[in-house]
Amino acid sequence: MGVSVIAMDGPAASGKSTIASHLAKRLSIPYVNTGSMFRAVAYFLNQRGINAADTEAIKAVLAEISMDYKLDENGEYSLYLNDRKLDAELRTPEVVAIVSLVATVKEVRDLLKNFQREIASSQLVVMEGRDIGSVVFPDANWKFFVTASPMVRAERRLKQDGTPYTQEALQKVADSIAERDRLDSERPIAPLKQCEDAVLVDTSNMTIDETVDFIAAYIK
Ligand code: C5P
Repeated sequence: MGVSVIAMDGPAASGKSTIASHLAKRLSIPYVNTGSMFRAVAYFLNQRGINAADTEAIKAVLAEISMDYKLDENGEYSLYLNDRKLDAELRTPEVVAIVSLVATVKEVRDLLKNFQREIASSQLVVMEGRDIGSVVFPDANWKFFVTASPMVRAERRLKQDGTPYTQEALQKVADSIAERDRLDSERPIAPLKQCEDAVLVDTSNMTIDETVDFIAAYIK
């Protein structure tokens, strides 16, 4: 018997957060976004003025980081960094610019891997990221690899903001997503890749509901 966790991995802006959170709601179980954890570390380093390329300096402050996943009044789980709830802080350009570099540091990955395993040890969760099925829970009972074409992903990211955009802006977002995918796929430790035993879900031509229906049916 494998580990009772629903692992969902995939590239940036593939829609996996949306899918994972909808699926969790439908199954009435917690949704855990591990990208937020890496973003929280990046945010912490920025706050402390630490250069994301300075691995030694990063290692030296990791002991000062404590993370928590807590249920809010609205029934949703939120990430706390040193007792402070983080949300919009995790999506600033400053954080996005360094997060994939921070995610290459082994000690950062180890810290977060332990935290992720602890969260899933007491309950069934949907956990979403890059290496959940490959490294964090290689024995997960359910593994999905969610993806979409690069242009669809860039469009979705821009539509999230709700403001009209130009072709130039679209290309810029597509380039930034492609660069993050490249860094995430080419790093030596826990690179982004589809595991052999993961179910591939290409959402390019699927709605959110169709995707969640497909995954929920598969799990049942
Ligand atoms: O999913 P999200 O875009 O929020 O992830 C931000 C970054 O965190 C990714 O680009 C990747 O570098 C890193 N990450 C990771 N492993 C995970 C989740 C995120 O390396 N499990």
